[in-house]
Amino acid sequence: MTTKRPPTALEKMGLNSPMALALHLPARYEDETELFTIEEALALGRFHSIQTQGIVIRNQVTFRPRRQLLVTIEDDTASLQLRFLNFYPSQQKQMAVGAHVRVRGEVRDGYQGAEMVHPTVRAVVPEAPLSASLTPVYPASAGLSQTIIRKAVLKALQDASLKESLAEFLPTKLMAEILPSNDWPPLQDAITYLHQPPADANTQSLLERTHPAWRRVQFEELLAQQISLKRAHAIRRERRAPGFVKTKQKAASIEEGLLKVLPFELTSAQARVWSEIGLDLSNTFPMNRLLQGDVGSGKTVIAALAAARAMDHGYQAAIMAPTEILAEQHYLKMQEWFGPLGVQIAWLSGSLKAKEKRLAQEIIESGEAQLIIGTHALIQDKVSFAKLGLAVIDEQHRFGVRQRLEIQQRVGSELFYCHQLMMSATPIPRTLAMTYYADLDVSVIDELPPGRKPIATKVVKAARRDEVISGLHDWLAKGLQAYWVCPLIEESEVLQLQTAVESFEQLTQALPNFKVGLVHGRLKSEEKAAVMAAFKANEIQLLVATTVIEVGVDVPNAALMVIEHAERFGYAQIHQLRGRVGRGSADSVCILMYAEPLSLAAKERLQTLRETSDGFVIAERDLSLRGPGELLGAKQSGDAMLRFVDLQRDAWLIELAQTAAERLLDEHGDLVERHLERWLGSRTEFLKA
Ligand code: ADP
Ligand code: MG
Repeated sequence: MTTKRPPTALEKMGLNSPMALALHLPARYEDETELFTIEEALALGRFHSIQTQGIVIRNQVTFRPRRQLLVTIEDDTASLQLRFLNFYPSQQKQMAVGAHVRVRGEVRDGYQGAEMVHPTVRAVVPEAPLSASLTPVYPASAGLSQTIIRKAVLKALQDASLKESLAEFLPTKLMAEILPSNDWPPLQDAITYLHQPPADANTQSLLERTHPAWRRVQFEELLAQQISLKRAHAIRRERRAPGFVKTKQKAASIEEGLLKVLPFELTSAQARVWSEIGLDLSNTFPMNRLLQGDVGSGKTVIAALAAARAMDHGYQAAIMAPTEILAEQHYLKMQEWFGPLGVQIAWLSGSLKAKEKRLAQEIIESGEAQLIIGTHALIQDKVSFAKLGLAVIDEQHRFGVRQRLEIQQRVGSELFYCHQLMMSATPIPRTLAMTYYADLDVSVIDELPPGRKPIATKVVKAARRDEVISGLHDWLAKGLQAYWVCPLIEESEVLQLQTAVESFEQLTQALPNFKVGLVHGRLKSEEKAAVMAAFKANEIQLLVATTVIEVGVDVPNAALMVIEHAERFGYAQIHQLRGRVGRGSADSVCILMYAEPLSLAAKERLQTLRETSDGFVIAERDLSLRGPGELLGAKQSGDAMLRFVDLQRDAWLIELAQTAAERLLDEHGDLVERHLERWLGSRTEFLKA
């Protein structure tokens, strides 16, 4: 019998079984195994938490500079101030004058001498025993206290089923041959240890997650991931896709026609990736390839060549882009290249009128449309392709894992899958490629088309806005053009539009001799296109824009870009934006204007961006800052694939896990399923995306 009741806070976090609780490992620990006098704490408690105790001799709420609670405790050796910026009445009571409290925190220098800000406080008798093990602090959520989690975990660790769930089944011999040392405890011991480390445990290695107990857990997690990636790899090879073998070029082929109309020669990097992709397309199992190349490296033409080959074999090709403006850019480019060759191109976006959409769907379904270009509409609406042979996904990281699965499922069947080419300007560091993307082949365009100039990046305070505008005036007076990018306001599109309009008006006034244009996401497609065309034709000299120009725009004479409130943008966004300049013969400049106060992270970000325009370096920084989820577009899925492994810190473990995975699959196929189930449960599907 099942009763319907709302899930508990524990269940909401997925902590619904002894095993789930056992694997809910502490984020950090508190050391309540040692107690210091206040004098010792003042000396030793800098930069790390320390535990001390004393009697409250003052308890006072003050209001300057803001409401706060100040408490002073003392013992025989010294006194210490505690400061609480947020507090409950109950805390005030707990620390009434005369109470004896045990506190834990870091000692810092405040305005009134040494103090602890927001220490943890417990009212205890002076002789209260110290804990025997380090106190775990678990990842928690609102409404779920540490006490509740600790209790639940303790109970789970005693559950009889755990013996079975955490049983050691990896072959001892294999482990002995692969593991670097034999000080890694068995899994169950490792897990118990991590939940209840003894008082003499090496706290640092526990915190840094380099302790053998952590290693054991990390290795198992990576092993599960490597196994499922290798399986995905094998499964793909068993699927069927149409093989597009490069035929001896007929003069009438679309591919040959395209090469003729292109106004440039492929760079050698482009030629190389095209031959890699061409080879994939000739296989009778689906291609799953990522084409990586910095902003402006020329990925579009590679997509066009791949599409041409599919079309030459009588199949359809689709190109999907994350934003309307980028999709439109592709549409225009493809019209320019393929239009003269008589290729039928369909356009599908969310903003089409119902009737236009239906028409587009009809020609896609009938097969009349050979090339289909659009946004998410390609997968969101009821689109059925007559004969899709190739799907190109531009800026793939902007799509969620689920959406990428979706296109595969939409066009795939048990019998037939299309080839997939993903494109991204965001380089994927090697460690990431080895873990998340083991079943993804990667081609890299590591060379920009000839004639590109490096971009000088400057970081400037917003207070110097007038200077920037006067510099802008001199720039435009030389006959050059420029972009002015308005801040991203994530909370409100209306607010974003408003600031853009304000900047537009201010700049129009400040630069009376020049034509200033404005483009933003609220404009209709035709309006946007008209402004962009005027800018391209130099009828507009300064283009004020929201981030809609992030991708796709190509105006070589515009070699200066000012980005307002640059501190609000992420690494990738600025890198992409900046890629819009530096395309012509003029020296290019990018001015990152920031408003104070600047957070430490923003400061570091702007500094890095000033120092380098190497997309690879920038992506590495991005990764260490944000974690891989966001970089991969997995954010939307909410399922972090690796919970205990840090790809940078633990890179060396990946290779171990790879070797182990290969041997396990070869020699102990029967154990594989059990291991996967233990570690990944329902999450395996994401690995195939
Ligand atoms: P991205 O890789 O950022 O998508 P694009 O495909 O938009 O870059 O190409 C950027 C610009 O470089 C476009 O104007 C494109 O026509 C041009 N381009 C691409 N390949 C070459 C080449 N081999 N020689 C000269 N220009 C090229
Ligand atoms: Mg592009």
